[in-house]
Amino acid sequence: MRIEEHIYTLNTFLKERHGQKIIKLSIDGGFTCPNRDGLISSDGCIFCSERGSGDFTPSHTKDISSQLAASVQLLSRKWGTASKYIAYFQSYSNTYGSVSLLKEKFEEALSFPNVQGIAIATRPDCLSDSVLAYLEELSHKTHLWIELGLQTIHEKTALWMNRGYSMQRFEQAVQDLSKRNVEIVVHLILGLPNESICDMLATAHYISNLPLQGVKLHMLHILDNAPLGDLYKRQPFEMLSKDEYISTVAKVLQILPDHFVMHRLTGDGDPKHLIAPLWTKNKKQLLNEIYYYLKNNHIYQGKS
Ligand code: SF4
Repeated sequence: MRIEEHIYTLNTFLKERHGQKIIKLSIDGGFTCPNRDGLISSDGCIFCSERGSGDFTPSHTKDISSQLAASVQLLSRKWGTASKYIAYFQSYSNTYGSVSLLKEKFEEALSFPNVQGIAIATRPDCLSDSVLAYLEELSHKTHLWIELGLQTIHEKTALWMNRGYSMQRFEQAVQDLSKRNVEIVVHLILGLPNESICDMLATAHYISNLPLQGVKLHMLHILDNAPLGDLYKRQPFEMLSKDEYISTVAKVLQILPDHFVMHRLTGDGDPKHLIAPLWTKNKKQLLNEIYYYLKNNHIYQGKS
């Protein structure tokens, strides 16, 4: 499959940057989130699972090195042991803590053999001046990128999902990170209820003008261990079909500039907890279908 002919993949970007294949290892840094611990809200984003959207990370009760070692061991059957890695702090909000705590966690990850960089998922409102100064310093030492879960630009949907921060806060965070030359990856969710395809494309147009390194696209997942699971059971709503999702991804790709790295074209909902849509369970097949749609319709990232 040569999806690289149609989009700028994370694999391509990491090979260009590091000269070889790089594997991302998800870890749980033991942080929490101000949208869950009561500072902003106790409910969390409506789609967020009990593990803070880090359902595939090893347990945070293990230290960072042990989590990395466990992931390397697991992946070595597929990739061998000579691989190089990006340590991905995935669960919850990974800059929600003092600079000394962040240093302790991130530097432990960087000292693990063959770790070439770190990816940090966080919220725009967890980037104080001292944290930003530390991230800038860290970006001079290693390959660093920050992942921000924007999901949508539409205020009505942001309120529905209890995102807990405004577009102004997001824009400030993007400005603060980019002026420090810290790479930024933005997450978008397609298929949020009450959003039309036009609404989703408006979000894609908006981010295409930002100084981003990359984008992650996700289909909305409904998990039974997230608040949305209960809501959906009480009041089911119509979701995108697989065909609608594929054609929307293709439209979004045409809008996004060709220098944005496509980190993901779909998310992973933990199959043990997934209520809907069940067609996302077979990720490999879905990615194949996206590829064939792009190929058959001569669609290329950044070309409309
Ligand atoms: S910001 Fe992230 S960790 Fe916090 S509630 Fe939202 S999705 Fe979950």
